[in-house]
Amino acid sequence: MIKQTPVGSLPRSPKLQEAYNAFDDGNLKKPELDKLIDAEIKDVVTEYEKIDGNPIITTGEVEKPNFLTYFLEKGFIKLGKPNQSGRKGFTIEFEGHHAREMAVLQKEQTPFKFAHYGDEWLSTLKKYSKKAFKATVIAPSAVSLIYKDEIPGYPKDQFIKDLVNECAKDIKKCIASGATEVGMDMTEATYAMKVDKTGKVLNDMVGLVDLVCAQLSPEELNKVTLHTCFGADNFTNHNYSNFQDVYPALLKSKIKNFHLPFASLGEGNFEEILKCIKNNINGKFVYLGFVSHLAKDVELPKRIAERIELATGVLGFTPGVSECCGYSPFCNDLTTTREWALEKIRARTEGAKLAASKLKLN
Ligand SMILES: [Zn+2]
Repeated sequence: MIKQTPVGSLPRSPKLQEAYNAFDDGNLKKPELDKLIDAEIKDVVTEYEKIDGNPIITTGEVEKPNFLTYFLEKGFIKLGKPNQSGRKGFTIEFEGHHAREMAVLQKEQTPFKFAHYGDEWLSTLKKYSKKAFKATVIAPSAVSLIYKDEIPGYPKDQFIKDLVNECAKDIKKCIASGATEVGMDMTEATYAMKVDKTGKVLNDMVGLVDLVCAQLSPEELNKVTLHTCFGADNFTNHNYSNFQDVYPALLKSKIKNFHLPFASLGEGNFEEILKCIKNNINGKFVYLGFVSHLAKDVELPKRIAERIELATGVLGFTPGVSECCGYSPFCNDLTTTREWALEKIRARTEGAKLAASKLKLN
C-alpha cells in the first residue's frame, strides 16, 4: 500500500459561497449558514466515499471561510487588487494578479483566543461517514501575522505565548475528535523567503512551529503533517518556487511528517527537488504533490504513477501521494469547481494504485 492524503480544501458550491457573502455582510444568520454547511459536508463526504481506493477524507474545509483565519470570529480575508496602498493587515500578494489581506488583531480581542477550532465540524463528518479522516489547522507562524503594531497592555511576547497554546489546543482537539491525521498549513513558509531573503523570518517561523510541537506527546506529533506550498488561489501562486531554501529549513523542524509540492514545480525540476528532500529528510516522512492544483487538465494516472516511481528511485523509499495544494483555500475563489477537484483526487488514487502494482507494494 502507498500512503495517501488529501490536502484539505475543496471548492464550495455557488450556493454556499453566496451564503458566506451574505453572512459576512450581516444578511444571513449563523444558524442558517450552519444548515448549509451541514448539507455541504454531507455532499463532500458522499462524493469522497465514491472514490475507490482513497483511504482518508476531509470536510473539504467547506466550514471555513478560508484556511488562514478561520480561528477569528469572522475570519474573512479581503480579496483585492495587487500592490494597493493603504492596507492595514498583512497582505499576501499573488504574483501581481490579486492580493489577500488578513485581519489585524484589536485590543478588544485580547488576550488572544481562537473563536473557532479545526474540530468544530468533525462530528458532522462522522455523522455521514465512517472513513478515516484528516482535520486541518493553521500553523502558528500564520497566526502570528495578525499582530501588527504594538497593542498597549498586550505585548507581542504574551501574544506569542497565547497563540502557541491555542495552536497546540487546536491540534489536540482534532485528535481527540478522532482525526487520523492533522494537516498543519504553513503556506507562509515560502512567502517568508519572498519578504526576507536572509531566511531569518523563515527560521523564526519554524521556531514557532517547534514551540507548538513541544506541547504535543510523541503520539500526537506523529499525527501532524506540515504542509507548505507556493499558494493556490484563482489559479495563481503567491510565489514561484524557492524549494531549495524552504524545504531544508522546514525539514529541520521537530515535525515528523511533511507534505510538499512537487508536480506543480515543473518537470524540469523533479530530480533536483527529490535530491534536495533526500539530502534533508533525515528519517522523516514526506507526502509529495504528484497532482498539480495549478494544471487545469486532469493528469493521467499513468503519468502520476511514473512520477511516484521516479520519486521512489531517487528517495530510496516510496513517499506518500497527494496533491500539491488545497483546491480552494479561500471560499470565494470562483475559478474552480468541486467536480474538477474530485476528478483530480480520483486520478491521484488511480495513479497510486498503478504505482503500487508496478512497485509491488500491494
Ligand atoms: Zn497549500
